[in-house]
Amino acid sequence: MRRLVIAGNWKMNKTISEGLELVRQMSMELKDVKDIDIIVCPVFTALYSVSLEIEGSNIELGAQNLFWKETGAFTGEISPVMLKDVNCKYVIIGHSERRSIFKETNEFVNKKLKAALKTGLIPIVCVGERLEDRQMNKTFDVISDHINGALQGLSADELKDIIIAYEPVWAIGTGRNASPEQAQEVHAFIRKMITDNFGASVAEHLRILYGGSVKPENVEAIMAQPDIDGALVGGASLKADSFVQLVRLCLPQGC
Ligand code: PEP
Repeated sequence: MRRLVIAGNWKMNKTISEGLELVRQMSMELKDVKDIDIIVCPVFTALYSVSLEIEGSNIELGAQNLFWKETGAFTGEISPVMLKDVNCKYVIIGHSERRSIFKETNEFVNKKLKAALKTGLIPIVCVGERLEDRQMNKTFDVISDHINGALQGLSADELKDIIIAYEPVWAIGTGRNASPEQAQEVHAFIRKMITDNFGASVAEHLRILYGGSVKPENVEAIMAQPDIDGALVGGASLKADSFVQLVRLCLPQGC
């Protein structure tokens, strides 16, 4: 049985005080939740303060990006060691906004993934097709390319420590989510790829999240799919009410 994950990606939102207010409310209202891994991914500047605020709670900390070197002349970048230093446990890698706006390639994603693992961070690796890929029936080609590119050179053992997020680009921040069946089809495809390349036991344990306009109104139907093990949530993670509601709807008795 795979443990569900609900991760909030705050993107470039929330000052330190706003972030603290948000996690204070979330941790108060979710303190009884034991069966779900709850993660928040604030902006870099808020990571340390948020880490202190959630210490001892059931909310865990993730970053939204990293660079693969430990130190050096890389102006504007943050290393895996620095993320560990501010108590991060997870890091999002290869988000579609990084791929499209900042031109991150599969090679970047692969290097970042390896650096995260080497430092003991759990990567949440994002993959997903654009609308035009889907319209041209290229969804599975793009997913294969993203998965093969990201996981190149990794061992089955290393795969045990990663989370994959399927995020169709056309569903991110658009209010238009993939249907549960569309998402399940891609999740099953990813799990089959992992089975073929790393073995059935690794695939069985791998957690694959769905991301793309997840909200309280659609989360139960999405989570009811057999290969969907949680959600990466953008917009609905910026308000305590919607995030709390969403997590609660995913509790075992909820979905
Ligand atoms: C995301 O940023 O990863 C995301 C899924 O955003 P949203 O939930 O707003 O679509």
